[in-house]
Amino acid sequence: MIERPRGTRDFLPDEMEKRRAIEVRFREIAESYGYREIATPTFEHLELFTIKSGESIVEEIYAFKDKSGRDLALRPELTAPAMRLFINECSVMPRPLRFYYFGNCFRYERPQKGRYREFWQFGVELIGSERVEADAEVIILAYRMLKSLNINFDLQIGHVGILRSILENVDEEKSSKIMRLIDKKDYDGLASYMDEAKIPEDVQENVFQVSALHGGREVLNEAEGFTGRENLQYLNGLCDILDSTEIEYTINLGIARGLDYYTGMVFEIYAEGLGAQKQICGGGRYRLAHLFGGEDVPSTGFAIGFDRVSEICKISAERRKLVVIVNFPDTLKESLEIAEKLRSAGLRVVSDVMGRNVRRQLSHASDIGADYAIIVGKKEINEGAVGVKDLHTGIQKSVAINELTEYLT
Ligand code: ATP
Ligand code: MG
Repeated sequence: MIERPRGTRDFLPDEMEKRRAIEVRFREIAESYGYREIATPTFEHLELFTIKSGESIVEEIYAFKDKSGRDLALRPELTAPAMRLFINECSVMPRPLRFYYFGNCFRYERPQKGRYREFWQFGVELIGSERVEADAEVIILAYRMLKSLNINFDLQIGHVGILRSILENVDEEKSSKIMRLIDKKDYDGLASYMDEAKIPEDVQENVFQVSALHGGREVLNEAEGFTGRENLQYLNGLCDILDSTEIEYTINLGIARGLDYYTGMVFEIYAEGLGAQKQICGGGRYRLAHLFGGEDVPSTGFAIGFDRVSEICKISAERRKLVVIVNFPDTLKESLEIAEKLRSAGLRVVSDVMGRNVRRQLSHASDIGADYAIIVGKKEINEGAVGVKDLHTGIQKSVAINELTEYLT
């Protein structure tokens, strides 16, 4: 027997229906904000992800050489591919651009509940604005998409510029390692690393104080003195917009994000009931285009962890009624005609392909959870009718063929 590769999953119909139902909602909401879908290749040049995605993700990349020796990688995320697409194809399009995507991503991680080697992200990128309104729009969109699933979650907003201004005089490699430890909330590791890297005492103290600032927007006052006015004014402006909506959030200046390309506002959304893998969305403001040879265009985006969201949300897909046509060798032609008519009317219709007798066709119909069985017998057909059995009540009736569609829908 051949098993699935570690960290991958198979999805059976019940689960796929649920996933599609979530996807449909996400699409509708993204489109209602004017976002349009893009798709990029499953694999890209490895370089696209090593330029600035940050070490934490680079370690997790599924990289390989193709038969011509090119260095390629399965995409670990979709922001870098979306920006590559923007530079290659859309740099002259009217701005801002609003894109959304839904696709599988691959990371070589230790598999566990909510953490897979192949997983799906639903995300958006708003390209071309550096204003706070753009950040607010993206946050509101993420919030609305998740709210539409009736799940409980916690939205936290921060700003990487604040921690970075504390680390201003620390070299880039060290400061990015420090940001990663903060992102992982590994404060013991952070303390010993900063000692080892000979980070000055006062800088260390500031790093700890700022990453602990978490609460209502008033914590922004406590951050004064750690950073320039600009970053705090920016976040205050963002809070002003969010406070004019019903969106609930907290400020958490300890959000560092694992990806290195963020430059300003960052946010994360956590759900209840997922244990350690509770982060269901991450996003923020970034600049990437110039690293790929384009102009330095400001953007904001997020990615929702689709698998984690699907695990906690309870929505069920709306299923069309399922009808089983019970056929006989001498009525096969009429059965197939009736089946087609009902399918065109929007029902799901299956007809026996196993050569079973009536009794076994009926018992199969209840086994697969059908709503109705339509018994197409020679005698009734000659009278222009069929037998209709309601499989929930067990009641059977004779229904005229020309009234059948109406009767079932
Ligand atoms: P985590 O801290 O849980 O590893 P991350 O910071 O690496 O998450 P991002 O790169 O921001 O995650 O990706 C966006 C979202 O994708 C995450 O919030 C999470 O819900 C989801 N995600 C990330 N890695 C995985 C994975 N291996 N399996 C399932 N979902 C994932
Ligand atoms: Mg990760």
